[in-house]
Amino acid sequence: MATKQIGKSLKSRKNPLSESIFQLSVLNNTLSLESSVPSFKNMIKSSGHKNLTPTKLEVLQINMGKRCNQTCSHCHVDAGPDRIENITRELLEQCLKIIALHSIPTVDITGGAPELNQNFRWFVESCAQLGCKIINRCNLTIIVSNPKYHDLPEFFAKHNVHLICSLPYISKGCTDAQRGDGVFEDSIRALKMLNEIGYGVEATDLKLDLVHNPIGAVLPADQHTLEPEFKRELKHQHGISFNQLLVIANLPISRFLDFLIESDKYDQYMHRLVDSFNPKTLDSLMCRNTLSVGWDGYIYDCDFNQMLDLKVETPQHHISDFNMDALSKREIVVNQHCYGCTAGSGSSCGGALV
Ligand code: SF4
Ligand code: SF4
Repeated sequence: MATKQIGKSLKSRKNPLSESIFQLSVLNNTLSLESSVPSFKNMIKSSGHKNLTPTKLEVLQINMGKRCNQTCSHCHVDAGPDRIENITRELLEQCLKIIALHSIPTVDITGGAPELNQNFRWFVESCAQLGCKIINRCNLTIIVSNPKYHDLPEFFAKHNVHLICSLPYISKGCTDAQRGDGVFEDSIRALKMLNEIGYGVEATDLKLDLVHNPIGAVLPADQHTLEPEFKRELKHQHGISFNQLLVIANLPISRFLDFLIESDKYDQYMHRLVDSFNPKTLDSLMCRNTLSVGWDGYIYDCDFNQMLDLKVETPQHHISDFNMDALSKREIVVNQHCYGCTAGSGSSCGGALV
């Protein structure tokens, strides 16, 4: 059964929040005198850090494009079936050269639904030939959305791809509310297909992690508390197993920012993030050891900065002029959305930080 859609992207709706400059105006209070969120940059300084700088580059995260078979309400990419942006093979070839030249150990593939890019399988095969660890961020439903994707589990297994898959909650109601009608059932079908070939099953090394992100303007629950609940319920209700649960906070970007504003919860959420600022998260923020490449080849400190069009601050900020020396000496570009990564136990593409 094809997954039903719940709406259009902000871009298709011509919503001003589809423009990064408008999002930054909201985040920096330039459109309103009412809100007074302290500057993230000053917050870092007051915690004893001069600025954020990179450590050794360990992960190259590549956004394959904004096309997706879903239109989730919280999506920070503003992805959907109505988006056409896709990274080209030529840009992916440049990424492969950089991965090989600098021996970058991990390639983290994201989107949209990365599998919709026609170069996806070739790119995974090429990364596997280079011997790097491959992470793919899969929305699960793509696997069952069309017969031509039914063999994805075997393809992933063949290349030992580490799968990080979205499943915001263990109930249909909460999952479908965030991700669209029918998504929970399709996700369960996909998870069963993955388990059948050994993903997330003990005694195999095929890693299947799930991602929980909260529904509504709240911080995520504790990762270590939630994981046993997910494991118990998915096993009991559906016979499904997985490796780890990663808990990720929603950053005030794109469609989640639109939700906050529309529901009049923007100030409340931002202050919640600020009040939960945890300086212990600063050492392990994902922007320290990761670079993010956009579908158009521009380089960013992280996927969130990419969506706000905040490129790395080095003069060369396109994959075609990749300069490792300059990048390793850069200062990481931060803005008010960064509070989403430093609240409570912290948040990153790898889940909680502390
Ligand atoms: S959150 Fe993921 S699955 Fe949902 S629309 Fe965005 S990219 Fe697609
Ligand atoms: S959004 Fe998070 S990962 Fe990105 S630059 Fe800010 S703190 Fe770093």
